[in-house]
Amino acid sequence: MEDKINQALALLKQALAEHGDGLVYPCSMGIESSVMVDLICRNGLNIPIMTLDTGRLPQSTYDVLAAFETRYGIRIEVVFPDCHEVEAMVREHGVNLFRQSVELRKKCCEIRKVHPMMRALKGKSAWLTGRRREQSKGRAELQTVETDPVYDLKKYNPLLNWSMNEVLEYIKTYDVPYNILHDAHYHSIGCECCTRAITVGEDERAGRWWWENDDEAAECGLHVMSIKQVSGKIEDGEGI
Ligand code: SF4
Repeated sequence: MEDKINQALALLKQALAEHGDGLVYPCSMGIESSVMVDLICRNGLNIPIMTLDTGRLPQSTYDVLAAFETRYGIRIEVVFPDCHEVEAMVREHGVNLFRQSVELRKKCCEIRKVHPMMRALKGKSAWLTGRRREQSKGRAELQTVETDPVYDLKKYNPLLNWSMNEVLEYIKTYDVPYNILHDAHYHSIGCECCTRAITVGEDERAGRWWWENDDEAAECGLHVMSIKQVSGKIEDGEGI
């Protein structure tokens, strides 16, 4: 455990040394976020933390956001989607468009997540994620440091080799605030309407857009948009 903490911390310090003000942590408020926020704040790393408010988040996500701010004496920047884009989308397709088709689900993610994330990353040179390899088959091949070919952004994944048990052990050891939905078997937490608890044997990401029943589709696009854009097809919204 100590080794994993030291390795994660070393990567955070490396990212900060290489990018300074150009580095940001877009926080998902899921269980891994608790480790990331604590590592950053406990060690006095000057890395800004931001999050996306899609307008469809569960109350527990706002609660953990507020708990982080109180615990560490910080203010987390909350980025919202463009209200005109959301209004036009809902006017055309309805409030629950994400249930109608994969295409419309991705459109919703694009407007509520990808576009605000692109705005938040403007002027930045690197970002941090709390992604772990064991979360899904789609994340098994991730690298500790990746390069986004479109935005020329570096992406650092300090928790890539952590297991869920190690995440939980860290949170318990340091008494870190966490999203209480995790206690109800929500291992990957996004918008309230697109997240469910998982059962024994399922991928941790299986609770996201479960009705699509497609591992590749179980990303909101935040972490795949550059590949799609390189190929000229903006299909996804990148998601936290
Ligand atoms: S997770 Fe669901 S509600 Fe949230 S942006 Fe994506 S499709 Fe829309």
